[in-house]
Amino acid sequence: MATGASELRSDLLASSLDRLSTENAFDVLVRANALEAAGRRVVHLELGEPDFPTPPHVVEAAARALRDGHTHYCPPAGLPALREVCAEHLTRHRGVSFDPANVIVTPGAKPILFFGLLATCNPGDEVIVPNPGFPIYESVVRYVGAKPVPLPLVEERGFAFSVDDLADRLTPRTKVVILSSPANPTGGVIDAGLNAEIARVLADHECWILSDEIYSEMLYDEAHDTIARHEGLRERTILADGFSKTFAMTGWRLGYAALPEPLVEPIVRLVINSVSCTPPAIQLAGVAALTGSRDEVDAMLRAFRSRRDAVVAGLNELPGVSCAMPRGAFYAFPRISGTGLGAAELAGRLLDDAGVAVVAGTAFGEHGEGHVRISYANSLDNLLEALAAFRGLLEDLGERR
Ligand code: PMP
Repeated sequence: MATGASELRSDLLASSLDRLSTENAFDVLVRANALEAAGRRVVHLELGEPDFPTPPHVVEAAARALRDGHTHYCPPAGLPALREVCAEHLTRHRGVSFDPANVIVTPGAKPILFFGLLATCNPGDEVIVPNPGFPIYESVVRYVGAKPVPLPLVEERGFAFSVDDLADRLTPRTKVVILSSPANPTGGVIDAGLNAEIARVLADHECWILSDEIYSEMLYDEAHDTIARHEGLRERTILADGFSKTFAMTGWRLGYAALPEPLVEPIVRLVINSVSCTPPAIQLAGVAALTGSRDEVDAMLRAFRSRRDAVVAGLNELPGVSCAMPRGAFYAFPRISGTGLGAAELAGRLLDDAGVAVVAGTAFGEHGEGHVRISYANSLDNLLEALAAFRGLLEDLGERR
């Protein structure tokens, strides 16, 4: 008795799925691909992934590992060689000491967010979530039965938040505070000064911190600062990082975390129950990435800087648009409220009428209204083409008013 999806009895699906949402960037990609299949030209500024190839020595390390027979299960927490190298990297880069025993490796940084919240949250707990922020935070918080408490990021503060706003949101039910720096979608940074204030506020509050540092090597004018460096907080921080962005390895699926000691065993148990382990050849590529030449990474960052400067300058010349200079990652988050359109409507018109795929700011939470997210991980030529098409759309709209 075959049944189509539409006829499926509703209780054949878990009701918990109602609490799990998605990433709008992938929906935009599907719509953009459909337009392309119909013969339309689309400039893709919707996805958060570097347009550069993975460095060749990293590819070669994986190929060698496969030929050498690294094709079986391996330790669920990660290969000791990679855990060691990640701990060394974190210690050097973050300026505080990390032990390999606290490092675990996962297929991407996303599982760290998922497992971290699964391992810490009970129904009724509250989790403070940056807004606008990476939509997966809120989705997973709801999925595990906790309540997301939005912490507004303020454009005038360079998309940081006020520490008073954080303090106001802490309650006895606050189980986790999610921090993200440099941030998606805003390019905002939590600097050492703000981290020191956060540390002061959290000193008297017993909770975990989930610090998403996936863009930790993509800052343009300053050194990265981690909350884990501040007094007493390393022991409470799930520090997530990974290879997707820095090494242009989004499709490899490789991430890692430094965990507070009490969370290592539970999170490794979640790994065992879900993915067993991260493929060993991929992990050996990670060792090559962290220990090998940085030339390609440096060249990519130089390209992102010049694209950022060009995109922000171009956006600021558009009628009704203003754009703050992002301090990190590869996103611009221009204010578009002066165009007279809301974020979702403008993003829709940009795709349908101008062939430019972007993500509405509201896809990152209600405080993203009035903005769109532009990923400038695309060639300068494509970015300039997109800016010209954006201008054309705004001029058409202006003439029709
Ligand atoms: N955190 C943030 C803020 C991101 O933007 C992304 C990727 N878009 C991730 C985590 C997930 O990265 P990964 O590919 O390592 O799972």
